[in-house]
Amino acid sequence: MLPVQLIRKKRDGGALDDAEIRGFIAGVTDGSIPDYQVAAMLMAIYFQGLGDGELAAWADAMTRSGDIIDLSRISRAKIDKHSTGGVGDKISIPLAPAVAACGVAVPMVSGRGLGHTGGTLDKLESIPGFRIDLTADRFAAQIDAIGVCMIGQTARIAPADRRLYALRDVTATIESLPMIASSIMSKKLAEGIDGLVIDCKVGRGAFMKTALRARELCGLMRAIGRRAGKRVTCVLTDMTAPIGRTIGNALEIRESIEILRGGGPRDTRELTHVLGGEMLVLGGAARDPADGRAQIERALADGRALEVFRKLVAAQGGDPRVCDSPGSVLPRPRHRVELGLRPGRIAAIDSEALGIAALILGAGRRTTDDTIDPAAGLVIDAYLGELIEPGAPPQIVLCHGLDPGDARVAEARAMIEGAFAIRPPDTATAGTAEVDQRHAEPPASRILEVIR
Ligand code: URA
Repeated sequence: MLPVQLIRKKRDGGALDDAEIRGFIAGVTDGSIPDYQVAAMLMAIYFQGLGDGELAAWADAMTRSGDIIDLSRISRAKIDKHSTGGVGDKISIPLAPAVAACGVAVPMVSGRGLGHTGGTLDKLESIPGFRIDLTADRFAAQIDAIGVCMIGQTARIAPADRRLYALRDVTATIESLPMIASSIMSKKLAEGIDGLVIDCKVGRGAFMKTALRARELCGLMRAIGRRAGKRVTCVLTDMTAPIGRTIGNALEIRESIEILRGGGPRDTRELTHVLGGEMLVLGGAARDPADGRAQIERALADGRALEVFRKLVAAQGGDPRVCDSPGSVLPRPRHRVELGLRPGRIAAIDSEALGIAALILGAGRRTTDDTIDPAAGLVIDAYLGELIEPGAPPQIVLCHGLDPGDARVAEARAMIEGAFAIRPPDTATAGTAEVDQRHAEPPASRILEVIR
C-alpha cells in the first residue's frame, strides 16, 4: 500500500497489519516517506491509538530499524534500568556499578538532558576525560570485563526513533502513550538485554502526572517486552520533590559517590536499593526483592560498588581519582550564592521549576545544541514538610559561572523562591511525608508501586 493509504486506514480507525507497519517504518528509516506523511501518520496514531498486535509490530520494526547489539558472548544475565526522567535523578550512576558488583551485567545506553530533567550522559561527562561514545564492540568488551558500560545512543541504535521523536516533538504528538512506549522500548531492546527495570516517575516534575497514566504506560511497555521475550518490571516512583540534595551535573556525581560510599540522602539510597533489588531478581541473582535489596545495600556499604565504578571511570577514559577526592577532580563553580527561604513549613515543592532554575544557571540545555556548564546547579537542603525557623541558615546554594549581575541569576533566584510553597508552621502539609525537624532528610519513601 502507498503511505497515503496507510495513513487513511489508520485515520479511519483501521488496524495496520505487520507488513504494513514494517513497510512504513522502513520508509521512515530510509527517508523515502516525507516528513509530512510521517507527521500525518503520527497524528492518526495519536487519535486512534495502536492495538496490541500493532503496538508489538511497531515497536519491533523500530527496534530492528538499526543494529541490535550482540551481547551473546556474555554469559551473565544482562539487565538495564530506564527512568522516564526526573529532576535530580542520578540513580543510574550508583545503581549500575552496584548491580554489576552483585553479578548481573548492566549494558546501559543513556540519554542527555533536555528541558528540566537531567541526563546521565551529561553527568558522567562532568568527570574529566569520561567518554560516552564507545563502539558497540568496546561496549560489549567492557561489559564482559567489568560487568558494566554506560554509553550514549549511537546513530545505529533504533534510527527510526530519532526521526519519529524529532517529528513528534514539533507536531504535538509526544504525549501518545503507544508512541512513548515504543520509543523507549525500541532503544532498550536494541541493547541486547535480557530484562529491564523501568523507573516510571509520577507527579508534577514528571512526564506522567498521574499514577493512572503511569500504570497505563507501564502496561504498554511490559506488553512490548513480553512479545520480545523480555521480562520488564516497572516501579512507579514519586516525583513531587527533587531526588536527593543536588541538581546539576558535577554536583550529582558528588552525591552519587556519597551513595557509592554507603551514604547519601535517604531517598536516593532507597531508590538505588529498590531498583537494584528488582534488577537482581530479573537477572536471577536474588531470591526475591528483599534479598536483592539487601545485596545492593551490602555492595554499597563494603566498597565493592565503588570499586566497580572506579573501573568503569578508568575504562571509559575518566579520572578514577574522582572516587576518592571528587572535590579536587570535578569542575568547581565560579560562584556559590546562598539563598534562604522565608520561615514556615514547606507544604509543596515544584521540582520542575527547580530543574528549570538549574538549567538557567547553566546545568541544562534549552535546545539540543546548547553547551552546558558541568559545575552549575543547585544544592538544596530543604525538604517537603520541613519547618524553617526564623533566622535559620540558608537552605539553597546556587552554583554558577555567570556574572553575578547577569539577568539569568535573578531569574533563577525568582524561580527557586517561587518553587517552595511555604505555609504558617501549624498548617497541615500537602506533601507526601511529614518531616518535623530542621535538616531532616527528604521524604522517607518514594516507592509508590511495583508492577512485576
Ligand atoms: N523518552 C523516550 O525515549 N521517548 C519518548 O517518547 C518519551 C520519553
